[in-house]
Amino acid sequence: MIPVVSKLPKTPTTIFTVMSALAAEVGAINLSQGFPDYDCAPELTELVYKAMKEGHNQYAQMTGLPALREAIAAKANTLYGADYDQNTDVTVTAGGTQALFTAISAVIQPNDEVIIFEPAYDAYAPTVKLMGGVVRAMELTPPDYRIPWDMVKKLVSVKTRMIILNSPHNPTGTILDENDIKELITIVKNRDIIILSDEVYEHLVFDGKQHLSMALYPELRERSFIAASFGKLFHTTGWKIGYCLAPAYLMQEFRKIHQFNVFSVNTPMQVAAAEYLKDESVYLGLADFFQRKRDNFREGLSQTRFELLPCHGSYFQSVSYSNFSDEKDNELAVRIAKEFGVASIPVSAFYNKGTDHHILRFCFAKKQETLDKAVERLMKIG
Ligand code: PMP
Ligand code: GLN
Repeated sequence: MIPVVSKLPKTPTTIFTVMSALAAEVGAINLSQGFPDYDCAPELTELVYKAMKEGHNQYAQMTGLPALREAIAAKANTLYGADYDQNTDVTVTAGGTQALFTAISAVIQPNDEVIIFEPAYDAYAPTVKLMGGVVRAMELTPPDYRIPWDMVKKLVSVKTRMIILNSPHNPTGTILDENDIKELITIVKNRDIIILSDEVYEHLVFDGKQHLSMALYPELRERSFIAASFGKLFHTTGWKIGYCLAPAYLMQEFRKIHQFNVFSVNTPMQVAAAEYLKDESVYLGLADFFQRKRDNFREGLSQTRFELLPCHGSYFQSVSYSNFSDEKDNELAVRIAKEFGVASIPVSAFYNKGTDHHILRFCFAKKQETLDKAVERLMKIG
């Protein structure tokens, strides 16, 4: 064996892989990794099939198919009153993950500091570390997980190069409000701080609330990478297509990396996505669709011993079990999968220090019958 110095010595296999593998092994209902257990619209698969039959089977443009970039820019500009140029400010990526990775790689230099809010999606910190950056994690606390902006101000220094935000938030379902935006604008003003805004759940916002995209605010838009995912828009997480929005000067650096990282994203799905996006109800209907699921699932969970945390967006519902157990969340998640047949995600996996508030995350992007069956099993706990 050739000695290899690990670039990420302390990074374990992602919790999503671990829990989905466990669910498969023990035959548990998988509410852990976030993906739908129902199919996408047949019209969409037909469009892919048609694109393949019509010969759209070679490389797409490095930056993404023009028709798709046009549709993406039109969507963002209409929804958020932005002025993204399809030629210079939009790049189609292999999922939100690649958009995040490439954005971080494009601008983070060794010793640059990056502020993240934990619990944080598990891709952020390792990517920052790979680039030699320093993660400055700020822990948020349940049940509301609001960002304490006074403390953020203390964390910001001349070394701060990036702030990573995620709204709607995975795993807590919180969303940024106008006050958060106001504080953010104050903090970044006159500083060379780039924002990486993970907005993959942009359309999954409930109770009539509005998603506050960085694209809405010129003073934030001009310094932001926005990561998005068609996996969430189309119920197609396995297609791994997403995109990144950024002003041209940032996108130019992004594309320098993107061209050698993936070069381009698969063509027939881009052809299909461009066509499918013409119908705005595809994404504008998602909030109602998932809100119904959230409401039914919460109703079911309220009959269990778990305590429900708020959920304003995303397709995740977190629950606390401190009232009936002091087991570690990762141990309880494994036990519930094995003994009761429901897989979840222990939220400590989203903290660098493994902070355990005794909270589990369930994904409700599932058929009603799946959620009902899961609730039935969870009712037996305790
Ligand atoms: N960011 C967040 C917060 C996510 O939950 C996910 C996973 N769906 C991603 C990014 C990655 O998206 P994709 O599957 O399109 O790579
Ligand atoms: N975003 C999904 C989740 O939070 C998982 C993505 C993945 O498995 N990499 O569950």
